[in-house]
Amino acid sequence: MPATADIYAVIGNPVAHSRSPRIHGLFAEQVGANLVYERLLAPVDGFDQALDAFFARGGKGLNVTVPFKLDACRRAAAHLSARAQAAGAVNTLWRQDGALHGCNTDGVGLLRDLLRLGVRLENARVLLVGAGGAARGALGPLLAAHCAHVRVVNRTASRAHDLVQAFAETAGDTRLDAAGNDGAAIAQGWDVVINATASGLFDAAPELPHALYADGALAYDMVYASAPTPFMQQAGQQGARTADGLGMLVEQAAESFHIWRGVLPHTEPVLAVLRAELDADASHHVASPEAGQAESR
Ligand code: NAP
Repeated sequence: MPATADIYAVIGNPVAHSRSPRIHGLFAEQVGANLVYERLLAPVDGFDQALDAFFARGGKGLNVTVPFKLDACRRAAAHLSARAQAAGAVNTLWRQDGALHGCNTDGVGLLRDLLRLGVRLENARVLLVGAGGAARGALGPLLAAHCAHVRVVNRTASRAHDLVQAFAETAGDTRLDAAGNDGAAIAQGWDVVINATASGLFDAAPELPHALYADGALAYDMVYASAPTPFMQQAGQQGARTADGLGMLVEQAAESFHIWRGVLPHTEPVLAVLRAELDADASHHVASPEAGQAESR
């Protein structure tokens, strides 16, 4: 790549597993952009220094992954997008007029992937499982999509209640409530159940009651893997159709690319390549700790 290439990176710890360089490389190929996209491993207490060094050497934009999304939000506090303000976390950073700006593209990435999967959120009943950063990023866009009912459930019920309270004023016509995982059971079933917990990373499913799903419901796991996750397996046994979070990963990346470069790449062909590569990795390295590992963005 010539010296004039624009420099981007994903910063995290760990970061070696990140598929973001591959995704952005495919976007760049597609639109003819001259860029390099690196992995930046920062010490857990060294985010600020790594960020400053990156922009000091002319870096154009950063994606931020675990455990730095809150740090990124703090650093861009003076110039946060509405999405970042709602999510309270930042996964996309760039400099504009000498100032650091931050956005959160996870929620819009999730919604675009649900759209790709043919989900109609308007008037839908949505169960959001988890109350961490990913659930927080998803909640604002879900409410903006005019769901009939969004219930947040979490292993630690108090975190679900806190999250719902933080969004109570933006719920509009949507019924918004919270419970522990056992509060997931309601008679009529859910149209969409989103697993926004990290359970899949531990090869487990969140402990949810049975008979959750309405006819034709979708069970969506934000974790992605070459084989169905435990949550997807459980949902499949209950008759739901299932999807993992690889599409969300590609869609959130596309939105970052759009913010940085003003062009929204086509995601379908990139998703197809990523899926094929994930499957190939799994068949070549069955015992690899990275096989089936999700990226936290
Ligand atoms: P986080 O802030 O650390 O929150 C973790 C959440 O998972 C909490 O709600 C926690 O419940 C719950 N949890 C953890 N282990 C669990 C278990 N064994 N059973 C039930 N619940 C469990 O993490 P996050 O940033 O929200 O990320 C959550 C997941 O989403 C991660 O796996 C991440 O990889 C994935 N993600 C994917 C994308 C994508 O683009 N595909 C984007 C963002 C995130 P407690 O509150 O009870 O601890």
